[in-house]
Amino acid sequence: MALKLYNTMGRKIEVFVPIQQGKCSFYGCGPTVYNYAHIGNLRAYVFLDLLNRALSFLGYDVKYVMNITDIGHLTGDSDDGEDKMLKTAKERGQSVLEIAQFYTEAFFNDIDRLNIRRPNIVCKATEHINEMIELIKRLEKNGHTYMAGGNLYFDVTTFPNYGKLAMLNLDDLKTGAGKRDIVVVDKNKRNPHDFVLWFTKSKFENQALVWDSPWGIGYPGWHIECSAMSMKYLGEQFDIHTGGIDHIPIHHTNEIAQSEGATGKKWVNYWLHNEFLIIAKDKNDSESTGGKMSKSSGNFLTLQSLIDKGYEPLDYRFFLLGAHYRSQVAFSWDAMDSAKNSRKALIQRISKCIAQVVEETADIPTTTLISQTQINDTGLKWINAFTESLENDLATPKALSELQGAIKDKNMSAMETLAVISKMDTVIGLDLIENSIKLYEEEKNIATGKLAPELESEVQKLIAERNDAKKSKNYERADEIRNSLASRGIILVDTTEGTIWKTN
Ligand code: AMP
Ligand code: ZN
Repeated sequence: MALKLYNTMGRKIEVFVPIQQGKCSFYGCGPTVYNYAHIGNLRAYVFLDLLNRALSFLGYDVKYVMNITDIGHLTGDSDDGEDKMLKTAKERGQSVLEIAQFYTEAFFNDIDRLNIRRPNIVCKATEHINEMIELIKRLEKNGHTYMAGGNLYFDVTTFPNYGKLAMLNLDDLKTGAGKRDIVVVDKNKRNPHDFVLWFTKSKFENQALVWDSPWGIGYPGWHIECSAMSMKYLGEQFDIHTGGIDHIPIHHTNEIAQSEGATGKKWVNYWLHNEFLIIAKDKNDSESTGGKMSKSSGNFLTLQSLIDKGYEPLDYRFFLLGAHYRSQVAFSWDAMDSAKNSRKALIQRISKCIAQVVEETADIPTTTLISQTQINDTGLKWINAFTESLENDLATPKALSELQGAIKDKNMSAMETLAVISKMDTVIGLDLIENSIKLYEEEKNIATGKLAPELESEVQKLIAERNDAKKSKNYERADEIRNSLASRGIILVDTTEGTIWKTN
């Protein structure tokens, strides 16, 4: 079978044919670093990571570029609203660069915790202003721009394919119908779909970051950064471009107009978009609204807020991979519990394979040894089924069920099963072998009444946290800690000397 992907351009599944055989170049729209990423944003990066890992697994030599938007992204995706970065900087009394630096680090911390591999190239908008200016000059030369009210605009009527990605109706564009979804607040625009390439007339006093340009001192519009940086690192034509579905009608539509308007040729061959994560309405909370994630609705969840509730980042990764990237996913605590339990059960099953290998060889197998173990026909059958699921537009729910099937298959030796899982996990990214070895060691130590130093200190921290919780009458948290340790075989006993642990 060949890799098939759903191309938003044309809205159909297509066989993936790379520009250069055996290679794949792709660009993913990265974060705007004015706040913590919410767990919806993180879905977009887990999806990018899946694509990256799947392409490598399928044998492609991958070049993957992601941008960091540290300037110019307005709170509205068209040209209205405030600059997101500047708004936070003003609220915090910090400089825009300080804000960007802080949230860029927070972003990398989140993606590391989710086992998301770093892109080959991460590029910041503020470090590529010259490339943006050069691209805008090409657009100007090709007659796609006009100056109005001090800002330089892209004239969408000069680009006949404008709106193809979003399937906007061209006749509507010309006559002015079909503009319902675009609120025109900028009177300088000839057409509501026109967008700013370069601002010199900022509506904000003290615009923090400005650069000189042929159109005056100012700063770039948001969309131009992705065209300029992707072309710099991947060339004027590349294979895949991704983002969340919200980017289809404006951001990606405008990126295409700018890029193809400058080069005069097709820019990207495959457009992949992840569906949204929404918040399920909480049955037990009458004030819960559910729906879109936003700060104002109280639906803003970060990775850290999941960790604070006792989940591990990989529980969230597992939860996301349980759905196809093109299906909308409703987040709820019940769903997180079930992801957490299923991941735990998976690791428990794999740790039984580890135990079996130890029984046979008297040694805990190393990850290297496992990955070098020969896989025979039965294992290959599972790997082929797993590969086919990925080739079918990255169908992770099916891929995960093949992984579960492989674990239960009694026709393989424990070592071969581990080798199969290890190979599949290069795509799934749950550190399944490492975590199963850890669990095996933990259980072995508990059986002998010892805890590994790392676990001992974790248990001591949890005992201290439980004592604090009890002092502040947070019995719910205290019980949660006791129960979670009990589920790992560690029983807390409150004595007159304090709390101690024992194994059951
Ligand atoms: P932003 O930082 O706002 O540019 O968003 C970063 C990425 O997250 C983009 O690819 C968005 O399309 C994506 N995104 C935003 N909200 C969600 C959501 N609720 N679910 C999935 N992806 C999202
Ligand atoms: Zn972009």
